[in-house]
Amino acid sequence: MTLDLTKAYHTASIHSVPKDGSELPLMEAFYTIQGEGANTGTAAYFIRLGGCDVGCHWCDVKESWDAELHPLTEVAAIVEQADAFPGKTVVITGGEPLLYNLHPLTSQLQERGIRTMIETSGAYPVSGTWDWVCLSPKKFKAPDASVYPFADELKVIIFNRSDFKWAEEHAARVGEKCALYLQPEWSKAHEIMPLLVEYVKLHPKWRVSLQAHKYMDIP
Ligand code: SF4
Repeated sequence: MTLDLTKAYHTASIHSVPKDGSELPLMEAFYTIQGEGANTGTAAYFIRLGGCDVGCHWCDVKESWDAELHPLTEVAAIVEQADAFPGKTVVITGGEPLLYNLHPLTSQLQERGIRTMIETSGAYPVSGTWDWVCLSPKKFKAPDASVYPFADELKVIIFNRSDFKWAEEHAARVGEKCALYLQPEWSKAHEIMPLLVEYVKLHPKWRVSLQAHKYMDIP
């Protein structure tokens, strides 16, 4: 379900997003089933914020990159909509959501008993208070060093053979309790999957993550 924006809003560049986090560039919001990583299969309300300067060439949400295309929306309105659904978990994604001050959004969600989760490349320092942080580092813009200790889950997208070594470099930087996931890049999944399966069998600290929502044919 896409958020029906009935409140006044205006389009915004990254720089015109209020630093106090009271408004955020909202691309879309929808209630669905988490399809990736540690929380696969659980109901969650996804809030996708516009704006990303990471530039992954295989990105499947390139329409999120330009923050100006997405309406600046009051956090209070975003939270109100999220609270209308029975699954009291919100996943903030993008784009790159850590471009923005996420303290007001996460605190207002948690005040209503809603769990806060984030999917981030870690390109910017963490803001907000989180029940779950999924760090998915990208080669095109390295994570900020301050982000690693916050990661509950490290999810590395495997696009080619050399990415396994790169994944290990990030695994060495997260905390001991961080769950480790390898996920084949969707367009290369057929080619990568056999390698990934053998890698996890040899290195069982890792688990396989699939984009299960694509198999379920849901957003
Ligand atoms: S960080 Fe995410 S939104 Fe940004 S380019 Fe990469 S895959 Fe796309």
